[in-house]
Amino acid sequence: MQKIKMTTPLVEMDGDEMTRILWQIIKDELLLPFVDLKTEYYDLGLAHRNETNDQVTVDSAEATKKYGVAVKCATITPNAARMDEYDLKEMWKSPNGTIRAILDGTVFRAPITVKGIDPYVRTWKKPITIARHAYGDVYKASEMKISQAGKCELVFTSEDGTENRELIHEFKGPGVVQGQHNLESSIESFARSCFNFALDTKQDLWFASKDTISKKYDHTFKDIFQDIYDKEYDEKFKAAGIEYFYTLIDDAVARVMKSEGGYIWACKNYDGDVMSDMVATAFGSLAMMTSVLVSPKGVYEYEAAHGTVQRHYYNHLKGEKTSTNSVATIFAWTGALKKRGEFDGLDDLVSFAERLEKATIETIESGKMTKDLALITSHEKPEVLNSEEFIIAIRKTLETL
Ligand code: NAD
Repeated sequence: MQKIKMTTPLVEMDGDEMTRILWQIIKDELLLPFVDLKTEYYDLGLAHRNETNDQVTVDSAEATKKYGVAVKCATITPNAARMDEYDLKEMWKSPNGTIRAILDGTVFRAPITVKGIDPYVRTWKKPITIARHAYGDVYKASEMKISQAGKCELVFTSEDGTENRELIHEFKGPGVVQGQHNLESSIESFARSCFNFALDTKQDLWFASKDTISKKYDHTFKDIFQDIYDKEYDEKFKAAGIEYFYTLIDDAVARVMKSEGGYIWACKNYDGDVMSDMVATAFGSLAMMTSVLVSPKGVYEYEAAHGTVQRHYYNHLKGEKTSTNSVATIFAWTGALKKRGEFDGLDDLVSFAERLEKATIETIESGKMTKDLALITSHEKPEVLNSEEFIIAIRKTLETL
């Protein structure tokens, strides 16, 4: 059989623990037999990050900027326990944080829906994609505990020394106070990433904030979105038959619960943090969520939304069989291959990626699945497969399509 050709390499970011094991099996069983896979390989496994003083993470992000599409395996973000486990020189930062800072992107998380893994919300028929703004607000806030009566003010001192003051509160006794900020440039990037992704996936875009209460802070978000939409996207959205819709966050939450799904929900940083976990859980499983970082310049990095599945890895090291769900990691690959194919005009690469997605879904719908799904499926007789058997079952389905 003639293998499918690629012209530009994908940036391949390998990772850690159980997902690193799945990574190799996915390549061996589902990609290499069918595609003449071209990748530029970066080993983001913790041992190699430590060896290179984390330079490899920076290099992989720079390569992503250069080529435009990357696929990433889950990686360990070190904590105190990992310092000992991997004998680290330093507590290296989260690779996702480093990559995001270099690419200045927005993360879109979308569930993979299959028959038999039913959302807890009855009306949801199509995926709901959450876009979370990844800069500022409460995550970069300054806070103070107030221990006694006194006056608290916001003070802005401009470079020429002029001061602007705004009373926060006249405290009569102890309390707390917090100062948040955001940047117009960051909100603009966020807005453009969302509009571009909506066009890309041909889905409506919803955005919500609390502008009625926060008349300057949240209102600025609303105004920037509307302004960019009117100037740069209105015509493109109309031509694509999709809509941009702004509403209050409380109204958005109520509408989401009653909706069918099938749109992108852009959220401010905190709303996105909270709502993405709610949406992921309500759709059934973290192992069925994909995640893609989209930069305002149109660079894409695909990954699974879950971590390295540490507990399964330790069982694997003991020689035990694991039943780890590889679906989100497979979809990270298919997402990246499809995007590469689109950029390079390789229709057969795009259709291969679509076939692999179809094969994955059909395999689960036929009742063959990993243990995490078997526990929540409405399928009458689920057959629980181990990690490797599941991927091989997908290969068998793929060969019939
Ligand atoms: P995790 O996502 O690996 O696991 C959380 C829970 O979900 C576990 O109970 C696990 O068994 C289950 N789970 C997750 N994915 C699964 C799958 N594919 N199949 C079956 N079950 C699955 O998160 P964690 O345990 O909090 O973190 C483990 C490591 O992953 C940490 O070192 C953390 O830093 C890292 N992490 C990386 C990323 C990333 O690279 N994007 C994201 C989150 C966590």
